Amino acid sequence: MESNQPQNLQICPVCNVSITEDGQVNFSTGSPGTRARLYARVCNYVQKPGCINQESQLIGKVNPEDGFESGENLLTPFFSSLDQSTKQTQ
Ligand SMILES: [Zn+2]
Repeated sequence: MESNQPQNLQICPVCNVSITEDGQVNFSTGSPGTRARLYARVCNYVQKPGCINQESQLIGKVNPEDGFESGENLLTPFFSSLDQSTKQTQ
């Protein structure tokens, strides 16, 4: 019986996720993400010593959309309505 998990898989006992050698984070639910996404969603709030995803060099740049389920929610109707109210009058 062989394990289908790579040996280099890192497990974060605090966040309950696994991180592959090339930095792919496998969440317990949902699709895989990045260390930045993991940090934005979990580690940023947990802040426990056992967390393996607290090194900023490994995490890299955290984008605002990393904290959301999808980037679609970032687009609000506000911008489209604003665009209509500022008609060019010459
Ligand atoms: Zn963690």
